Amino acid sequence: MSLKQQLESDFESRKHWALRRQMGIPNNRRLWVCACMDERLPVDEALGIRGDHGDAHVFRNAGGLITDDAIRSAMLTCNFFGTEEIVIINHTECGMMSAHTDTLVRALREKGIDVDKVQLDPDLPELTLREGSFGKWIKMFSDVDEVCARQVEYVRNHPLIPDHVTVSGWIWEVETGHLRPPHFRVGEKVNTNKAMGAK
Ligand SMILES: [Zn+2]
Repeated sequence: MSLKQQLESDFESRKHWALRRQMGIPNNRRLWVCACMDERLPVDEALGIRGDHGDAHVFRNAGGLITDDAIRSAMLTCNFFGTEEIVIINHTECGMMSAHTDTLVRALREKGIDVDKVQLDPDLPELTLREGSFGKWIKMFSDVDEVCARQVEYVRNHPLIPDHVTVSGWIWEVETGHLRPPHFRVGEKVNTNKAMGAK
């Protein structure tokens, strides 16, 4: 290949990269990921992808929870940007299990914050919480496996997510650095003779 051809090819690649939404090019893996924002959850490593090379649309928030904004983002990428798979990643030792809702609400009130009058979206003043709902909106949880499994079902059945989209949920174990399906803790099955079926 001549240098001219090489430079032309490089330019084409960069053009496709910059204009991929205009040209209807999906992300490389046609993938939307919802993951916790926690720094111990390395999304690329966990999934074996390169998010920085265009492999996926990655949505992160506290808990890796399917909130209204998660649905908004998933709806857009699945219906208009060519995404065909959704992966939800929650993780062990998540900060969302580190306190009870009432404790957090009380702490905010003690700071002088009126949690019943909080603006959620500057462009959507009609998006408000009923009095007393702020705690639910924080979405603290007590069982990461249960949350992950429930979220998969919710997204699978959501009317804004097309039926052909593949949806799965995984738990990232911060203690082992590996993914596992919800409710399948291999670590619990390796330490007793009973678990090994000893007769
Ligand atoms: Zn977390």
